Order: sequence, then structure tokens, then C-alpha cells
Amino acid sequence: MTSIAVCPGSFDPVTLGHLDIIQRGSNVFDEVIVAVLHNRNKVPLFSVEERLELLKKATEHIPNVTIDSFNGLLIDYVKQKQAKAIIRGLRAVSDFEYEMQAASINKKLGPDVETFFMMTSNQYSYLSSSIVKEVAKYEADVSDIVPPVVAEALKAKFSSSPRNK
Ligand code: ADP
Repeated sequence: MTSIAVCPGSFDPVTLGHLDIIQRGSNVFDEVIVAVLHNRNKVPLFSVEERLELLKKATEHIPNVTIDSFNGLLIDYVKQKQAKAIIRGLRAVSDFEYEMQAASINKKLGPDVETFFMMTSNQYSYLSSSIVKEVAKYEADVSDIVPPVVAEALKAKFSSSPRNK
């Protein structure tokens, strides 16, 4: 039986920390679906379409990874995809409380689905999409924390839109 895992998130934008989790997950599961969540309360920098495009380009070298987006409850999406697992990354203790709550409710709503947590790799433990956006806003170099395609997209976003500054 094919083991399918869903790796959900905002990915606004995808960072090398995300890619590390996606890559490592793809070594364990037959198929990893990276799923961008619509309808978040946060105002995103990149539209869902832009995020999907960036993720597709950044993961094109990993054959068993597909990119998708979803609305509504994660667990419904996971069941619809017939996935057995949810992959989440853990950076600091501060991630833990929210992740534990989310895993508990997902277990209640979908007892057959397991949440797998992966510890961040040391070099990415400080890395988040928010930090990337903050740094890129001031046109600092982000080439060692995001894939090249994202570095380009950030440059374009902040140079074409001075109101973002
Ligand atoms: P969300 O808003 O759902 O947390 P994110 O796009 O911020 O979405 O993150 C998606 C997933 O990637 C989460 O499980 C998050 O913990 C994980 N993640 C983000 N940055 C890193 C990192 N630097 N190292 C490991 N995991 C990370």
C-alpha cells in the first residue's frame, strides 16, 4: 500500500527550513503532498497561486512530492487524499503547544491519521517565513535561507511595491 503524507502550512514563502522537512519526509513516505492552506487570518505576502508556483519550482527535483492547496479543515483534506500521516516541523519549544493541540484535535477527528513531527535541522532552527519577509523587506541577502526562486520573487515583490516597505 502506498504511504501518503500531507505536509500542510502557509509557506508564505517556502524557506530552506520547509524544504528540509519536505525532503526528509519524502525519504520516509512514498508520496508527500505539500498543501498550502487558503483562508488564513494572516494577510499573506504571496497569493496562494504564487506560493504554489514557488513550491513547485523549489521541489521539482524531488519526484515523490506534489503541491496542492486546500480550504477548510486539514483532517478532511487528509482523508480525501487517503493520506495516513500529517508531517509537521518543530523548531522551538514555542511551536510545541500549538502543535500538540492541533495533533490532539486531528487525532479526535481522524483517529486513523497520525501526526509525525520532525525536529528542525540545526542550521534552520531560527528560520521562519516571517523572518525571511522582514529581512527581504530591507533588501538584505536571503540567498542562504530560501531557494533561489524565492529570493528572486522577494526581490521582485519588494522592488516593485514600495508600499510594502
Ligand atoms: P503554519 O502557519 O501552518 O505554521 P508554516 O508555513 O509557517 O505554516 O510552516 C509549515 C510547517 O513547516 C510547520 O510544521 C512548521 O513548523 C514547519 N517549519 C517552518 N519553518 C521551519 C524550520 N525552519 N524548520 C523546521 N520546520 C519548519
